[in-house]
Amino acid sequence: MNPLATQAALQILSQGGNAVDAAVAAAAVLGVTDPYSAGIGGGGFMVIYLAKERRVVTIDHRETAPASFHPRVFLEANGQPIPFAERVTSGLSVGVPGTVMGWEEALKRYGTMGFAQVLAPAIRIAEQGFPVSETFAQQTRANQERFNYFTSTRSLFLPGGQVPAVGSTFKNPDLARTYRSIAIGGSRIFYRGPIAQAIVDTVNRPPLSPGVTANVRPGRMALSDLADYYARILPPVVSSYRGYTVYGMGLPSSGGLTIALALNILEGFNLGALPREQALHLYLEASRLAFADRNAYMGDIGFADVPIPGLLSKAYAEEQRKRIGQRAAEGAVAPGDPYRFFEEPSPVLRPRARNASWEGESTTHLTVVDKEGNIVAYTFTIESIGGNGMVVPGYGFLLNNELTDFDPTAPHPNAPEAFKRPRSSMSPTLVFKDGRPFMALGSPGGATIITTVLQTLLNVIDFQMSWEEAVAAPRLSQRNLATTTVERGFETSALARALEGLGHRWTVTGEIGAATLIGFNPDGSLTAVAEPVRRGGGSAGVVQPKPEGR
Ligand code: GLU
Repeated sequence: MNPLATQAALQILSQGGNAVDAAVAAAAVLGVTDPYSAGIGGGGFMVIYLAKERRVVTIDHRETAPASFHPRVFLEANGQPIPFAERVTSGLSVGVPGTVMGWEEALKRYGTMGFAQVLAPAIRIAEQGFPVSETFAQQTRANQERFNYFTSTRSLFLPGGQVPAVGSTFKNPDLARTYRSIAIGGSRIFYRGPIAQAIVDTVNRPPLSPGVTANVRPGRMALSDLADYYARILPPVVSSYRGYTVYGMGLPSSGGLTIALALNILEGFNLGALPREQALHLYLEASRLAFADRNAYMGDIGFADVPIPGLLSKAYAEEQRKRIGQRAAEGAVAPGDPYRFFEEPSPVLRPRARNASWEGESTTHLTVVDKEGNIVAYTFTIESIGGNGMVVPGYGFLLNNELTDFDPTAPHPNAPEAFKRPRSSMSPTLVFKDGRPFMALGSPGGATIITTVLQTLLNVIDFQMSWEEAVAAPRLSQRNLATTTVERGFETSALARALEGLGHRWTVTGEIGAATLIGFNPDGSLTAVAEPVRRGGGSAGVVQPKPEGR
């Protein structure tokens, strides 16, 4: 994560704050320094280990569809889906933001500090500014056209009509003021009153620059949608893998379940003892099967009858395992039948299987541990890089386009519905061994989040890589598609050749994900790892470094 966010977390920890306080402080800084990936205009998922109580809780503060939302909202009059780019840069795609409520619930229930204390570092950085990085400038440039559509976005992120120069100081006084109001008034200030009004106005009447002809569709959000927003405190998805216990995020994130599905399938193979191409073949095919189920069955649990006990059953995994052949499947495979693994009679109505639609790859992930042993793995986002492109005028933050994560065409467990939360892939994950923390991790990257977390787990548990190697290793992502996405360079490796011999085909991309990980070493020390290279490199730190040579 951004070094300024790491510093804020460490500062809060040294002031006596716990991991939850530090996570919120770091997240608030990311809202300033990485405003295109996350912020108070979006939502997220926090997985928390409470050391004293020895239990894991999760906070779902995913964006929620407004009351006006309905299954045809993303369809043209002729029944065709509205083009994806138009869905993204629209008022229609904005879900009621969940971040401020998520932070407040986290602090009130599990933190030791209030908003005033944890927001202080972010307020200072928003006021005094931070140096524009290569990534910030590049992401601004990539969004320049649509940022110009909106008066508020143009004046904040394209001052003087220009992309801010790398190394120049970027300030966001409006966001500093917004954070100050939250520091004083808490979530009420955000969900009721002038900020709520400004959000509603932006969604319903996008602040278009004069002369813009692009088809920017307004949404229909009401003040009551904001006033009604709530975060859900949910139990984690729990699964086991070779004696490790894995705690993941539950629906509406598909992360925990999909990772568990793949791990359960892979548990039947001795990956560490196999030649690496064989092991990776199994990883890719298990991931393909897991995604087939994810795409067919998963949606917001408050709305969809998801066959969770079947999906998590080891007996089901055993059956799915038999579907993996010597060679890669030719393309998308059909979902399995988890209903047969219910102890209860299986439901008669079953959702129709359908493949994934396009998903964004923005987002940011952070991981924190404190001296009492509390752990936070937190992924939060505004969906696309730059969200829906609209800064809320006068308040300094971008709105999300999270509702594009719905499958636009009903019927589907993830079809648009009023008050529903769109399916996510975010996968903040905690792994325990013999009741003690072993690792905490997560990543951004849309649907590739799931494969990034899965592959990193295998790198550590099966391939015995060090924490650093596990994060740095080249990533492969198979999401029930004809080709596997790989990072540039891998396609020419000997391993790639060997996998091609087993029928695998590649789509090459620059990079996949941007993980952060905390590893718990047998000697009681911790290792905090961020990306060495991806997304310009991340940052990690500890309050008390281990003395040299020990
Ligand atoms: N909207 C995505 C999700 O919830 C996250 C976007 C991303 O990671 O880039 O899964």
